[in-house]
Amino acid sequence: MKIAFIGLGNMGGPMARNLATAGHEVTGFDTAGVSVDGVTMAASASEAVAGVEVAITMLPNGDILRRVADEIVPAMTADAVFLDCSTVDVASARKVGEQALAAGLSALDAPVSGGVGGAEAGTLTFMVGGDAAGFEKAKPLFDIMGKKAVHCGPSGNGQAAKICNNMILGITMIGTCEAFALADKLGLDRQAMFDVVSTSSGSSWSMNTYCPAPGVGPTSPADNDYTPGFAADLMLKDLRLAMQAAEEADADTPLGAAAADLYRRFVEEENGAGRDFSAMLPRFVDRGRG
Ligand code: NAD
Repeated sequence: MKIAFIGLGNMGGPMARNLATAGHEVTGFDTAGVSVDGVTMAASASEAVAGVEVAITMLPNGDILRRVADEIVPAMTADAVFLDCSTVDVASARKVGEQALAAGLSALDAPVSGGVGGAEAGTLTFMVGGDAAGFEKAKPLFDIMGKKAVHCGPSGNGQAAKICNNMILGITMIGTCEAFALADKLGLDRQAMFDVVSTSSGSSWSMNTYCPAPGVGPTSPADNDYTPGFAADLMLKDLRLAMQAAEEADADTPLGAAAADLYRRFVEEENGAGRDFSAMLPRFVDRGRG
């Protein structure tokens, strides 16, 4: 397949490389002028998408996605698929989707989970919104870049699924960290705490798979001095997108708002930028109630 890949950063670079390695003809463009093994670089985004069957974008935010869409949609061939894998606000995803459909393209918003490790290993999970025909065309590419792709409904629903999932993740990670810090103060051994909670009704992915306490449970960023993993900055980005969507949809999300505020303080005021999002545990241990 002829594919364009716009945005070859930490995620897009390895995703594009995996497509090229699988035998697809990939043309790339990135404003940072990077190069990726097996990918032919174009001089502009519109040059990259000329004549392709699928154009993939993996960009930092909704504003940049809207600008890139304005450039590439008119340059794409009718019936091609515009496949955005960035994490952006639902409104931008829906606007770009409508723009692409109006130009005779298929449009999919397909944010991912799995992080840089998943992008490199080709084991991402894709949460996909958009038309069924586009999903079927893109399915072989999802199978190369990831291990699972779920079609969640019309345009924007991929982003909706992503931010709802990550809002739960932010809330459960904070709850798990709070509980560990309380357990410490009550004199409860962390291993005993893990052994009980991980097999009880307080269990969650945050506790069982990504335990924020060093030396307890499976290996996680806590065992590597909270080097990400999933950086607190990215969790903050996703919680802000969730809060923006909640406001637009008039949804009551008090715990999401509390999690967004805690991660904002952690990243912007408490030196949490660049640390894994599970580093909330030492933050709670250090602070006490004051
Ligand atoms: P990144 O900053 O490493 O990559 C973004 C790339 O886009 C950069 O190389 C940048 O030069 C390029 N770019 C910016 N503006 C451009 C333009 N107008 N035209 C072409 N290229 C442009 O970011 P990343 O970590 O690869 O994340 C990309 C997206 O994936 C984000 O939306 C992020 O939220 C999402 N995401 C990231 C992770 C992660 O763990 N890094 C996990 C899941 C989802």
